[in-house]
Amino acid sequence: MNIILLGPPGAGKGTQAKRLEDSRGMVQLSTGDMLRAAVKAGSEIGRKAKAIMDAGKLVDDETMIGIISDRLDQPDLANGFILDGFPRTVAQAEALDKLLSDKGMKLDAVIEMQVDDAALTARITGRYTCAKCGQGYHDEFQKPEKEGVCDKCGSTEFSRRADDNAETVKSRLEAYHAQTAPILPYYKGKGTLKGVDGMADIDDVTKQIEGILG
Ligand code: ADP
Ligand code: ADP
Ligand code: ZN
Repeated sequence: MNIILLGPPGAGKGTQAKRLEDSRGMVQLSTGDMLRAAVKAGSEIGRKAKAIMDAGKLVDDETMIGIISDRLDQPDLANGFILDGFPRTVAQAEALDKLLSDKGMKLDAVIEMQVDDAALTARITGRYTCAKCGQGYHDEFQKPEKEGVCDKCGSTEFSRRADDNAETVKSRLEAYHAQTAPILPYYKGKGTLKGVDGMADIDDVTKQIEGILG
């Protein structure tokens, strides 16, 4: 199955995408992760994107559509993919439809993770990940079983994103409401949009998503 997880920064898209990777062999396509890898590698796209990401603004549509088009051509998507962080504008959503039909692929569901803005700041400022395997954690809401040790791979190194600070979160939420939320009526019109209560705890959200995917 091919799906989109849609929702504001901190809604839990990455957390749920990783669970679907483990349970169904689907592949998470996180454009944020792809951009962070480009920044780290110092590529041209990375150099261009860094300041925009640090400001909590959106990278231009043309760049993002190019990145996702190339990624969809990779041969590892047979068990389906989870788009996480793309599309983020109506133009990206329209371009995605065209890309998918050109490549003979289709979307099975668009899942909106609904979370109040007030909860998002706490989620984002407490977020960290295992530096080795990328497992996500939270200072309060998702601690590793043994403090300082990754549950998944045993690593003791963790990292925090440069843009996960209260100031940048404000512009990221503004960008979400102004540029990304208008995608919702686009998918509603097509009948593919399903909502889940993202305020529920992590296991409960997983159950809601499993219920939609069947
Ligand atoms: P979050 O998980 O908090 O929603 P992401 O990791 O998806 O954040 O994205 C981090 C940053 O990368 C965004 O603030 C934006 O600058 C950039 N970015 C990621 N995906 C896109 C996209 N589809 N279009 C434009 N910018 C993007
Ligand atoms: P996104 O990918 O949408 O930006 P993440 O999946 O990275 O969001 O989640 C943001 C932070 O909130 C992470 O630290 C994660 O551990 C935590 N988190 C995710 N889902 C929930 C939830 N349902 N309740 C509480 N905290 C959550
Ligand atoms: Zn790990």
